[in-house]
Amino acid sequence: MKIATKLNALTLCTTFLSVAIAASLLWQDHQQQQHFKRLDDVFRIQVSIDSLRAQLLTFRSTQDPAVLKSSHEIDAELKTLLENAPHINNQQQIYLQSLAKQNDSVCYLLDQMIDLHSGGPSPQVDQASQHLVNLLTGVVQSMTEDSIRLEQHAVSDSKQLRRETHLMIGGLLFAFTLLLWGMSINTSRSFRNRIALLDKGIRQLSDGDTNSRIHTHSRDEIGEVAQHFNDMTDQLRATTVSRDQLQAEVDKRTRELNSQKQALKQLADHDQLTDLPNRAYFRQSLASAIGKNKRAGTSAAVFFMDLDKFKQINDSLGHHIGDEVLQEVSRRFRNRLRSSDFIARLGGDEFTVIIDPLPNPQSAAQIARQLLLCLKAPLNIEEHELHLRTSIGISIFPEDGDDVSTLMRNADLAMYKAKEDGGNTFHFYNQAMTHDAVRKISLEEELRQALKQHQLSVYYQPQYSLDNKRLVGVEALARWIHPEEGIIHPQEFIPLAEERGLIQNLGMQILEMACQQCSLWMRDGIDPGVLAVNLSARQLNHPHLRTQITEILDRTGWPATRLELEVTESFFIKDPNTCLGVLNELRELGIKLAIDDFGTGYSSLSYLKKLPISKLKIDRSFTRDLIDDAEDRAISMAIIALGKSLGLQVIAEGVEKQGQEDILVSEGCDQVQGFLYGKPMPAEQFPNCASASLLLNETL
Ligand code: C2E
Ligand code: MG
Ligand code: MG
Repeated sequence: MKIATKLNALTLCTTFLSVAIAASLLWQDHQQQQHFKRLDDVFRIQVSIDSLRAQLLTFRSTQDPAVLKSSHEIDAELKTLLENAPHINNQQQIYLQSLAKQNDSVCYLLDQMIDLHSGGPSPQVDQASQHLVNLLTGVVQSMTEDSIRLEQHAVSDSKQLRRETHLMIGGLLFAFTLLLWGMSINTSRSFRNRIALLDKGIRQLSDGDTNSRIHTHSRDEIGEVAQHFNDMTDQLRATTVSRDQLQAEVDKRTRELNSQKQALKQLADHDQLTDLPNRAYFRQSLASAIGKNKRAGTSAAVFFMDLDKFKQINDSLGHHIGDEVLQEVSRRFRNRLRSSDFIARLGGDEFTVIIDPLPNPQSAAQIARQLLLCLKAPLNIEEHELHLRTSIGISIFPEDGDDVSTLMRNADLAMYKAKEDGGNTFHFYNQAMTHDAVRKISLEEELRQALKQHQLSVYYQPQYSLDNKRLVGVEALARWIHPEEGIIHPQEFIPLAEERGLIQNLGMQILEMACQQCSLWMRDGIDPGVLAVNLSARQLNHPHLRTQITEILDRTGWPATRLELEVTESFFIKDPNTCLGVLNELRELGIKLAIDDFGTGYSSLSYLKKLPISKLKIDRSFTRDLIDDAEDRAISMAIIALGKSLGLQVIAEGVEKQGQEDILVSEGCDQVQGFLYGKPMPAEQFPNCASASLLLNETL
């Protein structure tokens, strides 16, 4: 049964109880009324009997027959009362019937008395009357007693009725109270028990027990709640199973994701080729090393390393060899460093190292020396035996900077200094290097201005044939006549111009000035021979190179056949197809092509054959030690032999001593250029040099 129905039943019972009590009270009231009425009748009967007795007493004393008549009336009235008096129970009825009979006797006796006195007074009448009065008095006396008993009976009956009514109401009240009490106790106990079951079930569920069930058979609201709870736990169990599967799947995916994340982190943090940490990871590690040393008040060192001439290996032997070189070099560096040292590859052939902590600068020098030494043994990659060197720049925290960028920049500057010193060495950073870097920035701006204002000038260095010592050509070399600093050499501004995209403009200005000058000399009867002009590799990629050269030749009137463009060896190899296309176009114009600084790159014979070149220039580094260094001599000899086999002219540059010339002559070198014959000179000095050469020829 529903709780609401139970409550309704209770309310109904209470209402019913109230109605019953009200009805009982009404009934009792009605009964009371009846009793009062009965008592009233009884009193009236008593009053009549008393009146009758009083009349008899009066008659006894007066012997007046009229009294008898009024007694008769009273008697008749009493008779009516007795006939109409309600009888409630047998006892009362018996009393009433007895009273009625006695009254009838009284009536009879009165009638006798009246008859007796109707004949007038006499002693017999008086005697009979006396007798009758005595009888009457006895009957009335008996009636009085009966009426008293009737009254007593009615009063006790009324009391009895009241008691019974009270008992009935009390009983009713008691019974209903008991019923309500029982019902409420039963209901509350049932509620308590089932709510306890609900509570237990919910607790078990909240503890994660999805098998929790509430066992109740009631069909009320709590039963419904229990049923819903059971349905819910059933569903939850079903969901929990799938949730467990889901969790397992999530765990699996999380593991996969974590390993992928690690792999990605490895990829993001490491260089794929060498597996060393990359630039981002390096910067991050350096930042934390700086923080740590700042707090501890200790020092750390940053190494910036760049392999010497690695570019040439890459360009000449191909990227796959270059890659293997980088892998081997990385391995050697890694093995040489302590496990606490951090090495990274920034990109290309650039490596960085963090030495943390650094006990003193000497230990940084010691480590740098070891890194240089670890490259001493040649690298054997495929059939090649490669000699690798590196330049190292060192900056120290906190002296040389206290942030990542400054320390890296200063180590980089120190590395450039090591490169300038010929490589295969290390340099500590110092303030002057920053000064140099600052100078480079201001120099760039000044160079732009110089190009605008045509402040560049050309120096000329003669080239001679070894056959007859005749002047066969002249190399145009750029000079920057700085208004304050005087002459600035090309090593200082050519790389800057290349780096900053000024080289095409610069190269074309030099070419135009040189062609112009040579045309003037020719006009003045001085034949400079072939004009050799240096061409930067970057110019080879310039889209208007051919057009601009043609225009210059047209403007200056210098014949293309008398122009020789010198391009550094490694540049030929860098982008062979583009290079070949451009060189062929220039060759078609009649321009000669020479490979400058030959021997420093790694040109292959088959490749050289394809190039439309006419001359090889032996690099100054080989000529320099030609006399003392057998290796350099062997290389020079090989270049000369190579040139001959390919039908190319060979010129040696940097000839300063007669001994060098002698060797070159004996090896069959075609031409020479060097301080021995003439330093690069301004245009106005060149005619003297050219006429001196003529004189020289004439004496020969
Ligand atoms: P390079 O083309 O190999 O020029 C030869 C360099 O060797 C010149 O240096 C020259 O002064 C120097 N030299 C010649 N004979 C001797 C010698 O006997 N002993 C010594 N110690 N040096 C000798 P320079 O003029 O300083 O030029 C350096 C480099 O700058 C040139 O090397 C060339 O690569 C580049 N360069 C010069 N002018 C230009 C230019 O107009 N355009 C381009 N792209 N590069 C240029
Ligand atoms: Mg040159
Ligand atoms: Mg050269």
